[in-house]
Amino acid sequence: MGTKVNIIVGSHVWAEEPDVAWVDGEVVKINGDEAEIQAANGKKIVSKLSKLYPKDMEAAAGGVDDMTKLSYLHEPGVLQNLATRYELNEIYTYTGNILIAVNPFQRLQHLYDSHMMQQYKGAPFGELSPHVFAVADVAYRAMIHEGRSNSILVSGESGAGKTETTKMLMQYLAYLGGRAATEGRTVEQQVLESNPVLEAFGNAKTVRNNNSSRFGKFVEIQFDKHGRISGAAVRTYLLERSRVCQISDPERNYHCFYLLCAAPQEELDKYKLENPRTYHYLNKSNCYDLVGVSDAREYLATRRAMDIVGISTQEQDAIFRVVAAILHIGNIEFAKGKEVDSSVLKDDKSKFHLETAAELLMCDPGAFTDALCKRVMVTPEEVIKRSLDPYSATISRDGFAKTIYSRLFDWLVDKINSSIGQDANSKCLIGVLDIYGFESFKSNSFEQFCINYTNEKLQQHFNQHVFKMEQEEYTKEQIDWSYIEFVDNQDVLDLIEKKPGGVIALLDEACMFPKSTHETFAQKLYQTFQKHKRFVKPKLSRTDFAIAHYAGEVLYQSDQFLDKNKDYVVAEHQELLSASRCSFIAGLFPPPPEETSKSSKFSSIGARFKQQLQALMDTLNSTEPHYIRCVKPNNVLKPAIFENVNVMQQLRCGGVLEAIRISCAGYPTRRTFYEFLHRFGILAPDAIEGNCDEKAACKRILEKKGLIGFQIGKTKVFLRAGQMAELDARRTEVL
Ligand code: ADP
Ligand code: MG
Repeated sequence: MGTKVNIIVGSHVWAEEPDVAWVDGEVVKINGDEAEIQAANGKKIVSKLSKLYPKDMEAAAGGVDDMTKLSYLHEPGVLQNLATRYELNEIYTYTGNILIAVNPFQRLQHLYDSHMMQQYKGAPFGELSPHVFAVADVAYRAMIHEGRSNSILVSGESGAGKTETTKMLMQYLAYLGGRAATEGRTVEQQVLESNPVLEAFGNAKTVRNNNSSRFGKFVEIQFDKHGRISGAAVRTYLLERSRVCQISDPERNYHCFYLLCAAPQEELDKYKLENPRTYHYLNKSNCYDLVGVSDAREYLATRRAMDIVGISTQEQDAIFRVVAAILHIGNIEFAKGKEVDSSVLKDDKSKFHLETAAELLMCDPGAFTDALCKRVMVTPEEVIKRSLDPYSATISRDGFAKTIYSRLFDWLVDKINSSIGQDANSKCLIGVLDIYGFESFKSNSFEQFCINYTNEKLQQHFNQHVFKMEQEEYTKEQIDWSYIEFVDNQDVLDLIEKKPGGVIALLDEACMFPKSTHETFAQKLYQTFQKHKRFVKPKLSRTDFAIAHYAGEVLYQSDQFLDKNKDYVVAEHQELLSASRCSFIAGLFPPPPEETSKSSKFSSIGARFKQQLQALMDTLNSTEPHYIRCVKPNNVLKPAIFENVNVMQQLRCGGVLEAIRISCAGYPTRRTFYEFLHRFGILAPDAIEGNCDEKAACKRILEKKGLIGFQIGKTKVFLRAGQMAELDARRTEVL
């Protein structure tokens, strides 16, 4: 990246240093292809000449607000610029039209107040400091003027600031497209208040983020022909189900459990709840409180948000009955029964929790016990009731809890959508995507596989948009352009989603075949993808597999893939809950659709997720995209700490560095000859007079104004970065 210049003794350079990525210093000696550098941090470093980058000694003290303005464009320059700005609390920086947002980990109040909103409204992009509002404003104006849908894609790793950014975008769009608040609950208020509701049920404290969203979200805001918000739809993706029953120190379960345990006493009495430390689903981790957050206050706030979103008091009561029931269910324990491999409730405590849960769910306690401890087996000859041993009963119990929780979450999403209302006539929408970033942990399972698959899809979308579109346009216009290479990830996507033969298809096959185990599944993967460049079989494992993702290699443990991919509700659980005397709860479990063919009988999470993702991509492809890349400057979640190596890795994963390269090398501004003459003809009236060749006229105007480096294509004028502004300035002089 960047231009190589001659490095001599006395040159100021950037040199690589493992711990800090780059250090700056002065070359003091050159020996063949090696240089000795006196670094600014006092160290002496020896480095290959080819690995050094020149340092811009005239770089603006406060950095530049757009990377494409850097005079020396290379990795250390980019990093230095972000670090410099971050120190000054300038957390936003453009890279052409991509916004990079570095998490400040502190409230910067003035940055988001109503005065700010007013300023950004209608301001030309790039005129004011980089900001999320500017991105939302461009999207909104593009929608109004061109009648096209737009989307804003927010990405970044967990804790980078995606959800906060999304909320600010929505606030700003509500400001632009809102009505005077006369009608009580307005659509935009409902859209905004859907956030706290979804966060209470879908967010949790994790190691990476105290308020981590455990689901992906796409919010589609619909506008009428006057540019007013007329409806909205929320689509969610893959809520993390396992968290309901399984947490480890120092994480927490979903916020709603703790909020409810901090409710006013009369409600606690109603739900028979005590201290959160009592509950098995909460006490596997030692973390109960969040610094700076009052669960009691959040409980009331969530209730208020539910009111605004249109969830009735009765519904709210039923929702919290389900939440309380899940806590009680977690405390039901089993002991060995009299018959072999059977189980019974362990003690009076378990009996109390079971009865309380049954009461809250309004179902029969006897049937409930059976649903947890027994399974009906249907063989061609007969129907038999088989008992479960205590271990299997415990698994059954957890499955029950997870199913009911995920149904509750889906209900909330549906309710929010129906209550906000959809504008079927809306032709324009702005979609905002807040979805989990690339994940690579010590241990990676099916969830990480799906998340990384999502990121591959989005990365391809980004690639296609930024790179392919540029190149195609240049080729079409036959203008001179040295092609910039970029890593295409279609091969990884084929590996994952190809039908038949991709990993998801093979997993579905394994799930449908009763004798499969994760071992046979892994063997099948090894056989099938032996020669695939993106697939790796680790030497020391017989069941793990690795995929070389665009952002790095990830090792997956296959042992839970089959179970996690199966998407079915145990028939006994379904039957019990659909018979609940509470219509809300029964409604969460409508009778399953009649099975028509054998293939429809099996439904898998992986295949459904693939479909959802494809639908999302189709939506995104019909919009004009805008990108915001969130960056997490440190892993301790504290302000004013900027870890170079960490940030560098994120910029690479997000394709930011590649995008910078292309946007500078190319011609970011383009106009058809007609558009160009319409706008700039005034600069050289004689160039148009009596000259019907538009192309020649454009060329004359540009030459007359002394611009260089531009290109004239077959139908359009291509300008270098900044040239449009230059012409505009001349135009204002004339007008
Ligand atoms: P993500 O959704 O990417 O996982 P969040 O949006 O939840 O991350 O952000 C994590 C935390 O970082 C927030 O809870 C908040 O404390 C802080 N944060 C993120 N963005 C901002 C911002 N613009 N201003 C202040 N704090 C922020
Ligand atoms: Mg989030």
